[in-house]
Amino acid sequence: MELESRFKAALGEIDHCNKCGFCLPACPTYRLTGSELDSPRGRIALVEGVLKNEISVDRGLEASLTYCLGCRACETACPSGVQYHRVLEAGRTLLDKSRPRHRGLTFVPRTLLRLTRQPRQLRRLGRLARRLSKWPMPRSMKNLIPMLDYQPQIVPPTPTRSEPQAAVAFFQGCVQEALFGDANQACQALLEAFGYRVDVPSQQTCCGALAWHAGKTDQARNMARRNIAAFEATGQVPLVNTAGGCGAMLSEYAEIFAEDLEWAARAEHFSNRVQDWTGIIRDQSVLPRFVGEGSRVVLQNSCHLVNVEGGGDGPADLAKWVEGDTFLELKGQNQCCGSAGIYNIQHPDWSGRLLDKKMEEVSCASPDRIVVVNPGCQLQMTWGVSRSGLSAEVEHLARYLYRAFVRGQREPQSLDQVE
Ligand code: SF4
Ligand code: SF4
Repeated sequence: MELESRFKAALGEIDHCNKCGFCLPACPTYRLTGSELDSPRGRIALVEGVLKNEISVDRGLEASLTYCLGCRACETACPSGVQYHRVLEAGRTLLDKSRPRHRGLTFVPRTLLRLTRQPRQLRRLGRLARRLSKWPMPRSMKNLIPMLDYQPQIVPPTPTRSEPQAAVAFFQGCVQEALFGDANQACQALLEAFGYRVDVPSQQTCCGALAWHAGKTDQARNMARRNIAAFEATGQVPLVNTAGGCGAMLSEYAEIFAEDLEWAARAEHFSNRVQDWTGIIRDQSVLPRFVGEGSRVVLQNSCHLVNVEGGGDGPADLAKWVEGDTFLELKGQNQCCGSAGIYNIQHPDWSGRLLDKKMEEVSCASPDRIVVVNPGCQLQMTWGVSRSGLSAEVEHLARYLYRAFVRGQREPQSLDQVE
């Protein structure tokens, strides 16, 4: 039944596609190869052919769909509103059905997926990695394991308002919390400084995105159910997180459970609460001073934040707010860096080529700092800095803003005084 409805949904989207090709320039893989088979329109045509029994599942379809990043830039570019991800999911299901061997996960992605079900182990791994970072090791290795360089201790600033004015519920994310917990702490500290009480439900788990995109839909749904139940205890307040990929998945629980009589309403309510944290801070009536260090700063945005959550402007708007730093807007700052979940592990060749193109543009801006809003992008851009020989630091936007906020607080103004 689920398969039937998945194929039906895909055919509905395919019917809306008029083959205009407006999505092609937005597609990173098409821009890389120039081949129709690596474009959204080509992929849609292939899946359509199989669903309509005009062609069979073959290695051409497999290659075409396998190398799709799932970044969904084609959806934002499409004037007809085609929801390409439904076509992609149907196509990958067809591949799974006909030749499951070819979709088998290798050891590293399989281990990573297992760890997302065991956040404590993932956290332990993060702590172990940080301890190891004190040991002597070749610089190249440090560059390739960016989490080792992390100093995650963020001391929350004294709130400038005495009593919380509102509340938010905070989703930590498995990889984000384990490897880049400092970004979560910085975001929470900022929200508290703006007068929010931050509730962090202890029963939450991984959002399920990695499992969902790897075709492990049952595993993903189980994680989603646990999160829905955990966050119901926090009431109606906005639900925020610092990982663009997680935010997109959380905002799509409603779609994942659309045909589940028991969970559909609860999932829809959950998804409606998801908001981007940068939007919440940006939309405050008065912003305090964020003071920089005279750095040149560029942004690598999260494609899922931009193309799925629709919150893509928030990070750049906030980065521009930092006094004393120069924010350099890149033409491709919203385009995928080639990280794309576990794409960079599964397809290091294509991911590396996409990253090299990205780094060409970044290098032209000669930044001191690259800010990111997703853990996968943070790892990928750190790898990019290493590959390209740049000396820029890669940092989560929340941590960058937090440090700028603390510097601004040393000035005599506070939020209450400004108001
Ligand atoms: S997906 Fe949208 S933009 Fe792309 S070819 Fe179809 S209708 Fe045109
Ligand atoms: S999801 Fe991204 S990579 Fe895949 S077809 Fe769309 S734009 Fe291209």
